[in-house]
Amino acid sequence: KGKAKKAGKMATKKVERAAVLGAGIMGGGIAYQSAYKGTPIVMKDINNAALDLGLTTAAGILTKLVDKGRLNAKKMAHTLNNITPTLSYDSVKDVDIIVEAVVENPKVKAAVLKEVEANVSDDAIITSNTSTISIDLLAESIAKPERFCGMHFFNPVNKMPLVEVIRGKDTSDDTVAAVVAYAAKMGKSAIVVNDCPGFYINRVLFPYFAGFSQLLLEGADFTAVDKIMEKQFGWPMGPAYLLDVVGLDTADHCTDVMANGFPTRMPKQENDPVKALYNDNRFGQKNGVGFYEYS
Ligand code: NAD
Repeated sequence: KGKAKKAGKMATKKVERAAVLGAGIMGGGIAYQSAYKGTPIVMKDINNAALDLGLTTAAGILTKLVDKGRLNAKKMAHTLNNITPTLSYDSVKDVDIIVEAVVENPKVKAAVLKEVEANVSDDAIITSNTSTISIDLLAESIAKPERFCGMHFFNPVNKMPLVEVIRGKDTSDDTVAAVVAYAAKMGKSAIVVNDCPGFYINRVLFPYFAGFSQLLLEGADFTAVDKIMEKQFGWPMGPAYLLDVVGLDTADHCTDVMANGFPTRMPKQENDPVKALYNDNRFGQKNGVGFYEYS
């Protein structure tokens, strides 16, 4: 009598409708992936040209699948119908989850996260696709940080199977469970990691890139390193080609983040060849020239 019953475990929140903020390389890919796997998604940006680009990204992936005979026109139309492009927060009000994928700038992200929270339901989950910004830092812009975590996709979203779910110090277990379930619904496999510079994958990848840069400084030829890693060691691509795919601007930024986060283990390198290419406006595949040239 009078004894409170132990609360039962809450059911994981189901994601039936989602929103992605930013219709860029990542936003367009996330919209495609969610829509293709059956979760309707609102794609919000701040200008129409960006929305058109996001839709073109999604349509491009679908057209390739149709051309290869792996998709019919009906499924293509259905997928595109599942994406609602918009410039306003109106259609974001009733979504279950938001994936923020705007430019990698802490000030812009902080402002966007505040706007988001003012425009979504009280129990909506809010996530960020940031690659390098601390989740705890971003959480300072959220009034209810228990509903916030990182949801880090990799580029290209339709091909890369992993999603890092980054738990901040205040993120609740229910939030993590719902985000992991949404990642699975999108056909991705999730790992849950703590908030730290580089999260998980970049902590593995960037020491490898640093080792590669060191070899170049010692006189190695990048094409020879790629050839050995690909043809002889059997990896799908060598480090120079992979850096061109990642983008040398992104890689340079991430190298700095890692050096600041782990100054002893990953110190700044004098004459870093990646920084030299970046300073020379060679960003890799995204602008047609990096280690290699692309046409
Ligand atoms: P991008 O520059 O291609 O796209 C960013 C988009 O955000 C643009 O369309 C821009 O118009 C829009 N935007 C800017 N301010 C906005 C606002 N206030 N509201 C709504 N939209 C706004 O950038 P991207 O490469 O897609 O990166 C987006 C995020 O994903 C970044 O945080 C980045 O670190 C992360 N990320 C990028 C990659 C990658 O390889 N490109 C991989 C993983 C994660």
